[in-house]
Amino acid sequence: MTRTTVIIGGGVAGMTAASRLADLGEQVILLEREEQVGGHLRNWDRLFPNRRPGYEVLNYLTEELGSKVDIRCLQTVTTIFSGERDFQLQLASGKSLRCDALLLATGFDLFDARRKEEYGYAIYDNVITSAELEELFRSGAPITTRQGKVPKRVGFVHCVGSRDEKAGNLYCSKVCCVTGVKQAIEIKELFPEAEVFGFYMDLRMFDRHFEEMYYEAQQKWDINFLRGRVSECAENQDQSIVLKIEDTLTSRPLKMTVDLLVLLVGFVPSPETLRLAAMLDLPVGEDRFLEPADEHTKSTLTVKPGVFLAGAVKGPFSISNAIADAGTAALQIHAYLKTL
Ligand code: SF4
Repeated sequence: MTRTTVIIGGGVAGMTAASRLADLGEQVILLEREEQVGGHLRNWDRLFPNRRPGYEVLNYLTEELGSKVDIRCLQTVTTIFSGERDFQLQLASGKSLRCDALLLATGFDLFDARRKEEYGYAIYDNVITSAELEELFRSGAPITTRQGKVPKRVGFVHCVGSRDEKAGNLYCSKVCCVTGVKQAIEIKELFPEAEVFGFYMDLRMFDRHFEEMYYEAQQKWDINFLRGRVSECAENQDQSIVLKIEDTLTSRPLKMTVDLLVLLVGFVPSPETLRLAAMLDLPVGEDRFLEPADEHTKSTLTVKPGVFLAGAVKGPFSISNAIADAGTAALQIHAYLKTL
């Protein structure tokens, strides 16, 4: 009998797991709720640490999928019934699907910066998120203030919505520090005369070549990193942004004006993941990301036989880590299917 795996989520992890499983001879249906697969990577211009174009990785993953996988876009799962050794999925389109294994790869959402009112996002014109800056880079649109001026001073606020008890997110989002350093360099490449500042609590440059990029930012590009918490933002008459900062190294309050303020927004669990987890009765951690069967030894398995996890449903992941994790999930699913 043909064994079928349904993968919910067509981002980096879902695409990778789908092509790996197909290579292993499994029948795969990849469900994506948007019009196209690719997830957040579709909106990203250049990747860290080497600043290669994001579309190169997206094209690679798309080519790998080829015609081996049954991709169904604009699909939302409304209900999942768990049988003894299989699953029945009801889709919003009215169709239903049966499968032997289910992989949740529904990824993450970005923190809604409006929740941090003190930064003035969606209130002041010249406060934008890192995702919006990336989209400007990707589209080739001029990087200016909303009033059309070339920015002379640009600030990056780290940990927006992460490591923040008030926001309810104690975890670190892992990749926003390196994103901030990459984007700060890209601003300097465009505007060598601009002054660029990063306001951080700690700089977490955890992976290979990240620390070197941080050195490059300081030594080659003269980017200023200030250890401090931005406590308040206000708008001047000319729409520049005044920041109040507590410098945590010197314990002195600082005031500074920038033309453009970029908020490095972190990961949050997607409501879609939590909805699916509730249907499948899967355990959710205090951070609201999904819990694998064992963090170290069974990180792509769940406590429910036949249900697997890949990528950012389990917490913040970089693209390369999501690809590696999805490859592991594919092997685990293949091994499970052989036992049926
Ligand atoms: S990666 Fe950096 S900016 Fe992101 S949450 Fe962690 S410490 Fe904060």
